Amino acid sequence: MNRRTFATALGLPALMAAAPAGKGPAKIALRTRRLMLKHTWTTVMSSSDYRDTFYVEYTRDGLTGVGEGAPIIRYKESAETCTAAVEAIRPWLEAADPWAFQKVMAGVFSKIEGNWAGKAAVDIALLDWVGQRLGVPLWRYFGLDKADAPVTTFSIGIDKADVVKQKVKEAASYPVLKVKVGLGTDEEVVGAVREATSRPIRADANEGFKSNEEAVAKINWLEKMGVEFIEQPLPAANLDDMNWIRKRVHIPIIADEACLHPSDIPRLAQHFDGVNVKIDKCGGLLEGWRMIQLARSLGLKVMLGCMVSSSAAITGAAHLSPMVDYCDLDGNLLISNDPYEGVKVVQGKLTLPDGPGLGLKVKKA
Ligand code: MG
Repeated sequence: MNRRTFATALGLPALMAAAPAGKGPAKIALRTRRLMLKHTWTTVMSSSDYRDTFYVEYTRDGLTGVGEGAPIIRYKESAETCTAAVEAIRPWLEAADPWAFQKVMAGVFSKIEGNWAGKAAVDIALLDWVGQRLGVPLWRYFGLDKADAPVTTFSIGIDKADVVKQKVKEAASYPVLKVKVGLGTDEEVVGAVREATSRPIRADANEGFKSNEEAVAKINWLEKMGVEFIEQPLPAANLDDMNWIRKRVHIPIIADEACLHPSDIPRLAQHFDGVNVKIDKCGGLLEGWRMIQLARSLGLKVMLGCMVSSSAAITGAAHLSPMVDYCDLDGNLLISNDPYEGVKVVQGKLTLPDGPGLGLKVKKA
């Protein structure tokens, strides 16, 4: 009988799982996957049929932690630049002590410039590994109650009215829908959604309104259409005009493109009602946790958002979802070749896995 089977026989699996890690070193594999979108995805910024996301697989003591980040072109990062950035620190990262993950991530932040999706993939892989080694799901590790996980919105992409109605029909099990606005097709798109359903809608302008007056007129109209709140009506750099707009509208305005890192939040608290935290933009769950806490302490509403990505990144973010007011974690639902199964959406509500770490399973082909 070896040490593990002996401990298990004594009813000590948790104790064994919490035993210190072996000497390592870890083995790290980096990969890029092309995720295919079910529908061509159009926003103010771009239109596309696929996204390439970046993965880190961190293997040590026979366990593999998986992390994923969706690189964002706007921040001059791609799966290639993230790969190069993490490759450059691979020997250091493989030798680092994963139990000191706060210290390791501080090192990653000081060694890698930009490439936030790359940092996020490292952070999620480390935490997945730690959770697996401890035998606890990450929501439990963070001291959260999975019953508090909110509903997630389901995004209806911009399209012709009849296609929009079809998409709304396909999204029948989601109690709250999200619609992109600010493209000059708002009346047609929001009108089509409203014709098809009376469910609540949340809107995202992605900086698309051209003037303060247009923003106020559009938001006032969206209020009448049953929209609960709107994200980022004006360009990220324009904070000064936000309060002028806020005085003239009646729904919360959430900063998204203006909100990247914890240090952005105190300033945003003067101009917005809430912030959208995205793990791919801030560089991981530890940084996301920090942003949520900071935003809360400043009285802001908190939304957890995502990029188009697979269940690895989405499940990572979902483990923090019991802490937030609003969730927009549908990036994995928009693709047709998700390699993983993790968080599930049941009648719109995020249902967190109970398996250790992220609780991911590799999907059977
Ligand atoms: Mg947004």
